[in-house]
Amino acid sequence: MSGVGVVVAEGRVVEIGELPSLRTRWQHAEVLDLTGCILMPGLINAHQHGRGLSQIQIGHHDLPLETWVAQRRARGILDAYPLAKLTALNMLANGVTTAVQANFAFGSGDYEQEFRDQCRGYDEAGIRVTMCLGAMDRGGSVYPPHEACFMAGLPLETRAMLANASTGAYAGNGQATVALMGRLLGEFENHPRIRLCYGPAGPQWVTDELFGTLAKDAADKGLGMHMHALESPIQRKAMGELYPEGVFKRLESLGAMNERTVVAHCVWANEEDADVLARTGATVVRNPGCNLRLSNGIAPIARYMAQGVRVAIGTDNHTLSDDEDLLSELRLASYLARDPEWKGSPAPQVDDLLAMATVNGAVAAQFPGEIGEIRKGMRADLVAFSLDTTREPYLDNDMPLLEAFLARARGGDTRLTMVEGRILFRDGKFTSASFNAIVDEAAEAARKARRPKDSANIKMAADLRTRIHDHYRHYASQSQ
Ligand SMILES: [Zn+2]
Repeated sequence: MSGVGVVVAEGRVVEIGELPSLRTRWQHAEVLDLTGCILMPGLINAHQHGRGLSQIQIGHHDLPLETWVAQRRARGILDAYPLAKLTALNMLANGVTTAVQANFAFGSGDYEQEFRDQCRGYDEAGIRVTMCLGAMDRGGSVYPPHEACFMAGLPLETRAMLANASTGAYAGNGQATVALMGRLLGEFENHPRIRLCYGPAGPQWVTDELFGTLAKDAADKGLGMHMHALESPIQRKAMGELYPEGVFKRLESLGAMNERTVVAHCVWANEEDADVLARTGATVVRNPGCNLRLSNGIAPIARYMAQGVRVAIGTDNHTLSDDEDLLSELRLASYLARDPEWKGSPAPQVDDLLAMATVNGAVAAQFPGEIGEIRKGMRADLVAFSLDTTREPYLDNDMPLLEAFLARARGGDTRLTMVEGRILFRDGKFTSASFNAIVDEAAEAARKARRPKDSANIKMAADLRTRIHDHYRHYASQSQ
């Protein structure tokens, strides 16, 4: 559509129509000329962690997931606030208007403060965010049911370091997590841009009891649940041991599977798992770059879609190009879904891909029907991308513009990012936030966290990583 305008007032889309008639009726409105651009609903990054600086930038190698996570133990505590704010600004500059902040603990020992610091960072940046209140109560060393055996083989001091690794990372048990949710809701319930949900880390890290407690409170309060599951081949194997009937069937019996449930990564869902996802209305978030980089493989989203599963897209702050370019990740997801078998599930089409980054993302972000579309009454989260990259110097008339856009556009083509009716980024500049100042603050936070408080932890962490690697190599080679 061209020659069309969108009227925004008080944070909402109030009218869409032909330009001449809008101009007559809204004579005093400020007019933004977006000639040469495509105007879209703001993109939704449905899974990321507010990392700000990439893991490569802070010195963490790409490794298989289980050993990659263990690298953090050799470092000090990062400061959540500048990192969340920097992530938000980077996302805004790439056309993202809403982000889901998945569970993440910095390990300071004060999770509530970390969570509030992240909220402040996102709020100051002006982005819309869904904050997942994390929880875990097992699997702090290796996945169950092999934790006790693994811990018994560790030196005493390493065991002491890990003793608190599960429950200590977040608010504590189910009761403590529910109490913290109550406090946070008291503060954020009426915030126009911040929404809360539960973020149980993932089935291998959460007992049935904790899942059940969070699921009940989520149902009572109408909250969503966002978890990691079936991310790595090792997790697939662990799920077979822990949940012989199927992990999502068990979660369903605990009340944790419904249309507000979001499963990030989900690389290894078999047909039965995907059937439960489809039947219960849960959403899968595809993280293609991260899954490739951490040796987790390729999620078969063409099959998931054919089975009726809703699929969204996220960067996990760990994309193919180590940036926050969600459009490029969407492209990667699209290409990786192309089955070499002629009889395989059909690859996602233009509409499917756009839905992943908009309407499906809105469901994953717990804002269904409020964002993800440009419609009268919706929240005014809009983004304009320049079409220069897409169609210069020539684009054949036979090529549909959206197909070309998805094949060629980049996050860097963003010309305008608006959240809740507020312009936050325009023509390469942030309108209120100082990008350079927050970059400096984030870099300083990373510099300070280069070394743990206790230098003995570096040696201990290196030894632990070797042991974790050996444990999983042995585990992977065992038949079940
Ligand atoms: Zn993640």
